[in-house]
Amino acid sequence: MRKVISIVLFAFFFLGCTTGQKPKEKSIKTVKKQNDFAIIIHGGAGTILKKNMTKEKEIAYKEKLATAIKVGHTILKNGGTSQEAVLKTIQVMEASPLFNAGKGAVFTNAGTNELDASFMDGKTLNAGAVAGVKNVKSPIELAIKVMTDSEHVMLSGAGASLFAKEQGLEIVAPSYFYTEQRFKALQKVKKSQKKKLEVSNKQAAFYDATIKDSKFGTVGCVALDKNGNIAAGTSTGGMTNKRWGRIGDAPIIGSGTYANNLTCGVSSTGWGEYFIRSQVAYDISAQMEYQQKSLKEATKDVIQNKLTKLGGLGGVVALDKNGNMSFEFNTEGMYRASMDDQGTLIVKIYKE
Ligand code: ASP
Repeated sequence: MRKVISIVLFAFFFLGCTTGQKPKEKSIKTVKKQNDFAIIIHGGAGTILKKNMTKEKEIAYKEKLATAIKVGHTILKNGGTSQEAVLKTIQVMEASPLFNAGKGAVFTNAGTNELDASFMDGKTLNAGAVAGVKNVKSPIELAIKVMTDSEHVMLSGAGASLFAKEQGLEIVAPSYFYTEQRFKALQKVKKSQKKKLEVSNKQAAFYDATIKDSKFGTVGCVALDKNGNIAAGTSTGGMTNKRWGRIGDAPIIGSGTYANNLTCGVSSTGWGEYFIRSQVAYDISAQMEYQQKSLKEATKDVIQNKLTKLGGLGGVVALDKNGNMSFEFNTEGMYRASMDDQGTLIVKIYKE
């Protein structure tokens, strides 16, 4: 009898131990490698409604997103770095008038174009950024140059242009950034803001005219290469009708862009003032680092909970060290695309 009791007790004890040793679901989720390399991009978030979009425009956006992401994907597939993939992918979008970055940058209140960009390397935590540049063809290239060839992280205005010239980057006449569509958008925003200012308070007027009427359109890219290095970059013309040298979140490390090989890479798009105050990109990484959240949980909390509660609009694309990817936004739409190591391409515009 004593023998039977000890066998039963032993069996209980043994079973108890094995169940106790079972890894929790969460830790399985965080260590599982989804992709050896991967890339994710956005072309801006905002009031992008199907009813306001022509079929031709929709195709043009989707084709350009696909062309851009394939450039980066090919670099990664051939063993290239995430830095190179982010640069070349963003340059395709900067050269297109469709996006509010480079060629298609929005206009300031004074009728000029002032461009912002930033880049971060997740391996070294090195970063580079530029703000308010008026004559540099590829602001993302300049941001990377600031990181690699200067002792600084952020340059602005005339000084940033001088540095670009000294580094042999392509300088263009400010008229290069003129597009009729963006110029018309400025007139529209100005008109509607003026009208609204007469009837309501300043903040409401700014919101209605600039934000609601705006399609945003910043571009961003996050890539993970075969060596496990994450890089992130963002490039923008900022917000239509901006004044007084306004600078948004896009060139601010931790708000518009962040990358850390231990956690993830993030590129943001939306109402910059709120993204700065929320430290959106860094907060996602921090939630993963300090709270062991998954990429999906962290992006969801920051965009759908924290940013939304504050009143901010926009979204992010993010990619973690295991190749998991996340699109998260609280606007009507976000131009976006992703590609995994199998070459699976996803291109979307509207909410699901
Ligand atoms: N975040 C950008 C800014 O505030 C705008 C955008 O994403 O479209 O400058």
